[in-house]
Amino acid sequence: MDFTPPRPRPDRRDTFTRTPVSKPKTSAKAAAASEPWTAKEAQDHYGFKRWGGDHFSVDDTGALCVHPMADGRKIRILDVVKEAESMGLKPPLTIRVQDLLRQRVIRINEAFRSAIRQEGYQGVYRGVFPVKVNQLREVVEEIVDAGDKYDFGLEAGSKPELLIALAMLENSNSLLVCNGYKDEEYIRLALIGRRLGKQTVIVVEQVSELDPIIRIAKEIGVEPFIGLRVKLSTSGEGKWAESTGENAKFGLTPCEIMQIAAKLRRARMTESLRLLHFHIGSQVPNIATIKKAVSEAARYYCELVRMGFPMGILDVGGGLGIDYDGSRSNYESSMNYSMEVYARDVVFNIKAVCEETGVEVPDITSESGRALVAPHSILIFEAIDRIVRDGDEPIPVKGRRSKPVKELDDILRNKHGLDPLERFHDAKQKKEEAHQLFTLGHLALDQRAEADRLYWEICRDIRNTLPAGGDIPDDLTDLDALLAEQYVCNFSVFQSLMDHWALDQLFPIAPIHRLDEKPTVPATLVDITCDSDGKVCDFIDFEDKRATINLHPLKAGQPYYIGAFMVGAYQDIMGDLHNLFGRVNEAHVFLEDDEEAGWYMEETIAGQTVERVLDMIQYDADDLCRAMKKAVDRATKADEVKPREGVAMLDLYEKLIRGRTYLVPARKSSKMRAKKAR
Ligand SMILES: *Cc1c(COP(=O)(O)O)cnc(C)c1O
Repeated sequence: MDFTPPRPRPDRRDTFTRTPVSKPKTSAKAAAASEPWTAKEAQDHYGFKRWGGDHFSVDDTGALCVHPMADGRKIRILDVVKEAESMGLKPPLTIRVQDLLRQRVIRINEAFRSAIRQEGYQGVYRGVFPVKVNQLREVVEEIVDAGDKYDFGLEAGSKPELLIALAMLENSNSLLVCNGYKDEEYIRLALIGRRLGKQTVIVVEQVSELDPIIRIAKEIGVEPFIGLRVKLSTSGEGKWAESTGENAKFGLTPCEIMQIAAKLRRARMTESLRLLHFHIGSQVPNIATIKKAVSEAARYYCELVRMGFPMGILDVGGGLGIDYDGSRSNYESSMNYSMEVYARDVVFNIKAVCEETGVEVPDITSESGRALVAPHSILIFEAIDRIVRDGDEPIPVKGRRSKPVKELDDILRNKHGLDPLERFHDAKQKKEEAHQLFTLGHLALDQRAEADRLYWEICRDIRNTLPAGGDIPDDLTDLDALLAEQYVCNFSVFQSLMDHWALDQLFPIAPIHRLDEKPTVPATLVDITCDSDGKVCDFIDFEDKRATINLHPLKAGQPYYIGAFMVGAYQDIMGDLHNLFGRVNEAHVFLEDDEEAGWYMEETIAGQTVERVLDMIQYDADDLCRAMKKAVDRATKADEVKPREGVAMLDLYEKLIRGRTYLVPARKSSKMRAKKAR
């Protein structure tokens, strides 16, 4: 029995034909010899250096390599994919480059240390990692381990995250910052941490949280560490601007802070107030915003010290960005500062305010999540098919060609010598006429097909004759996007690139091999969900975005792997089960300690099976199998299927229910190998 993969619903645009990979439909020229390309050209084209810093390079086989420590040691990403495949872990595959994660932890700590040294700052930096940004055990473990010598801690935003953090964080000098909305259980759990000698700080976000903290602390007999989250008037910038400002959902107003101060005095717990916290939202593109926010928060800090609270720590929250497009600009997918500049500006601005007010400088903590974990994770998926515009082979039309078809043919040959824009508008009008005639029953399908085909050929012709770099009318600049091929990719945007769908967040995307061939096909990516939104048609470009990415023509029987980079923050956990595509396979790779020895794969996590995904929505795999068996038995009894056929049907059903949710692309080469083996 043949398993036919579900076909993705065509996009809102019309007239696509699906062409099997085995019969490439690109012109003979493009398919024949690929143009050679240098590593440098590939690097510039996909921006590896721009967004990847010294972490990515292209080797002389045209394969992309990752340099976890930004030094000479490298891992060929294709090798990791092959190794994972040999273990049965086919793409979609998340590769976690664990040393790259460690490197980020070291880098932020060193950045603050050196800023503190440079400024002659009298406090220390003890940062925390907000667990919500990537809760995977292996990720948290790596961060805690790499950060141990810096007394780097964790931040929790919910009970489950606090349960993780309390158990995972052993260093008693590290901070454990408790944010988020809290009930009594959450507060009790945090205070238990204090009893166990951990530096849990409960950050009050709501006035109502204070009473239970006071009560439970007395009951347990422990001195709590209390922090206050202040609602700054400095508003953020970028996609998360609404995390701050007067309408933000988080933080205490000046009035509320005064109320809390009075309550603490009354409870004789002024000694407990240790930390001031703010968070101006994620991915702050502009360093000016950060400076302003830090200065405003430092004022609050100094005021609280002058009111007689011991304080001691200023927590500058998250927001440290990632330069997804490599433009170093204040564009929302970028940032106009580096981690080092961030650290210097935080230290400098706190110091400046403290000096002015004559208050001793605090220790500094930050809750950078995205900046620590985004770079370490690479999503690999395979392009398995392509959807192309109607080709250049004329459609045989029965009888006389209809009027719109004839006219489109004239426009194609440019009989009237029109300029490109006029040609385009005329062609569009004729195509629409053909559609109307078809709907009214005055045009046969073959005529309509030929009209559509001619239209696309005209568009291609116009695009190809547009002057390069010339002044192109608006209507024609979209032609590239309109004519782009769609590469069908075996993954789900909703599971693996959630923020691209939800927030138009751009991620760097590039093929991980064949980078010694010039990519000649402008394309967009569509995923395998039955959702017209399941696509990627915005790609990074220098200081802007572009509607297509140049890819290589697909070759029959040869996998084509594409990587989406810097997906280590938020994506894993925000991903959903749309169409029941579950979590993807994972491989965790490490550099060998020995410089020459290369890399090894320490851990693999198999993606969710159909069975597990079904369980989450209350289906029991065994029940389903039993129901199928009933149907097969009935058909066998009725002599509609042969017993042997029935057994095979059930075997297939069971195999698929225990198997993976993603497509299993046909591989010519493996079939050929199998034949040879026989
Ligand atoms: C989400 C969050 C963070 C992490 O922000 P990033 O921009 O990823 O660094 C830090 N602190 C709080 C309170 C958060 O809610």
